[in-house]
Amino acid sequence: MTQRRVSRRYAMQAAGVAAAGTLASGAAVQAKGAEDIEGAMLGGFAGGKYVLPDLPYPANALEPQYDERTLRIHHDKHHAGYVAGANATMQALANARSSGDYAWIKKLSRDLAFNASGHVLHTLFWRSMTPGGAKVPDELAQAMKTSFGSVKAGIDQFAAAAKAVEGSGWGILAYEPVSRGLVVLQAEKHQNLTFWGATPLLVCDVWEHAYYLKYQNRRADWVNAFLEIADWEFAAMRLMVAQM
Ligand code: MN
Repeated sequence: MTQRRVSRRYAMQAAGVAAAGTLASGAAVQAKGAEDIEGAMLGGFAGGKYVLPDLPYPANALEPQYDERTLRIHHDKHHAGYVAGANATMQALANARSSGDYAWIKKLSRDLAFNASGHVLHTLFWRSMTPGGAKVPDELAQAMKTSFGSVKAGIDQFAAAAKAVEGSGWGILAYEPVSRGLVVLQAEKHQNLTFWGATPLLVCDVWEHAYYLKYQNRRADWVNAFLEIADWEFAAMRLMVAQM
């Protein structure tokens, strides 16, 4: 029953994508591959460049766990900064290719990893939360049992990882395609400690800008609050797409 609910919720979005002309038809959703569905539904790219996606809910919808003021500044200023940085870096790289001048390639490569990873993770972050939270659907629960022993063990590891990130970074639940299992990762900044090929499913921002106005230095309180509004249905949909 849960699985059907997840499928219907996200099938409607996929149908919307098809109706908008990004995909030819509902049947083409599977044929076109995961990237199209994923990219289209996340909304972080349009017109040939990265764009700031709209919030999927009103800015006060995650209260009290996530306060409106923090959310607005976080989305409108911080995330927007990464979008601008990613596009500027892509342009600078295009200029380098045109001119053949690669004097700044090391800096530009770092800027790309930082800004584009920041954009991707924030785009996922807004979707990783939903008002009141959403329970772990059956298919994701099964995957968590297989990889972590139990759903609780997976969530506990996720929380512990997020709380213990050194400096600014993220707690990440990811699908790992080589083992075809789930892993919990930390990211420092946005791009360090990468497990290549792993697809993030659910992400918790633990940069101070994500929580300091409401939680000050109490990062653990923020992570616990995040878990109350975590959208495990979204994570299950991401897993379904990642496994395609
Ligand atoms: Mn952030």
